[in-house]
Amino acid sequence: MSAPDPGRPRQAPTTLYDLGRTALGELLEHEPSYRVDQLWDGLYGQFRTPEEITTLPAALRRLVSEAFPPALAMAAESVTDGGDTVKWLWELRDGAAIETVLMHYPATATTGARNTVCVSTQAGCAMACSFCATGQSGFQRHLSTGEIVEQVVRAQQHASAWPERRRRVSNVVFMGMGEPLANMGGTWGAVRRLHDDIGIGARHLTISTVGLVPGIRRLATAELPVNLAVSLHAADDALRDVLVPVNRRWPLGELMEACEAYFEATRRRITFEWALISEVNDRYEDADRLAALANRLQAHVNLIPLNPTPGYPVRGSSRNRVHAFSQRLRDVGVNTTIRDTRGSEIDAACGQLRADHTSTPVHDPRSVR
Ligand code: SAH
Repeated sequence: MSAPDPGRPRQAPTTLYDLGRTALGELLEHEPSYRVDQLWDGLYGQFRTPEEITTLPAALRRLVSEAFPPALAMAAESVTDGGDTVKWLWELRDGAAIETVLMHYPATATTGARNTVCVSTQAGCAMACSFCATGQSGFQRHLSTGEIVEQVVRAQQHASAWPERRRRVSNVVFMGMGEPLANMGGTWGAVRRLHDDIGIGARHLTISTVGLVPGIRRLATAELPVNLAVSLHAADDALRDVLVPVNRRWPLGELMEACEAYFEATRRRITFEWALISEVNDRYEDADRLAALANRLQAHVNLIPLNPTPGYPVRGSSRNRVHAFSQRLRDVGVNTTIRDTRGSEIDAACGQLRADHTSTPVHDPRSVR
């Protein structure tokens, strides 16, 4: 499919997983009402494609699958970590490309096994964070709720495909391509569908934002207390303006006030994400500034060793630096984890599978120092 005119904003289509029960009822309006229940259970209880819902007569299966063909066509699948990390590149029906990652975490002494899906909420992203592969390639369009939900359904189909696997998606993180709070409609519709119809609890759903203050304030009063992760990356405005340009619109002071409002309203601990970039934000004074913000909010800090991207000239921090930085945070009582860079050898980390992007190098952010 040819790419549409980039100058014109594109609309997200209506796809199978966008439809609620009422809309499905309209599609099957001449059928007894239990047919809608069978279809619904097939889609959301069993994660079947319409063709596979054999409780429905063949003609109905055909009707549904012809009216609503899959929104996602697999363009690439990469498997690593012995099958525990799978990344897909999907082509949407209008030719846009997005990514989804499924990660299996075995049980530990304190937690059960987890299967986490990382979903995209937009094709491309308008936030232009300098170190992010998606940000470097620009914005195409929002995803519809159905396009977000279908990513989880496809991951679940993979997770349960082999009898010995029988894995069930337990967590969904809105941390793939795009800015979820810039597409609140699509994102929140997906949150509701995953929670209400697929049965994933609010504590197992995490929205990650670059720091869109109005969106954070809406989450503070939302009816479902999902987890909030904020991509901080810098704890002073001069540096954050460069790394995360939306900081110029909502600087750290306003962002922290919104985070405080969220924490007060929900009593849910926020996670601050921090991609460690060599000589940019990995010094002890950066850790100390971050610790001051994190301690004020009792926030958890998730350190992400930077994944190199073609459009960003700086490297990730060394292993030693990452550990020294996390130790510095722990020394002052900040709850800190280091994210394992799942799938980095298959370009599965952070918008890197979509290979066709063109990017122009940005100026060297070390010059801010
Ligand atoms: N727009 C949202 C969600 C998508 S990005 C947000 O900004 O939070 C998910 C996380 O990956 C963010 O914390 C983002 O800053 C981080 N990230 C992006 N590119 C990265 C890279 N090259 N290396 C490490 N982390 C990166």
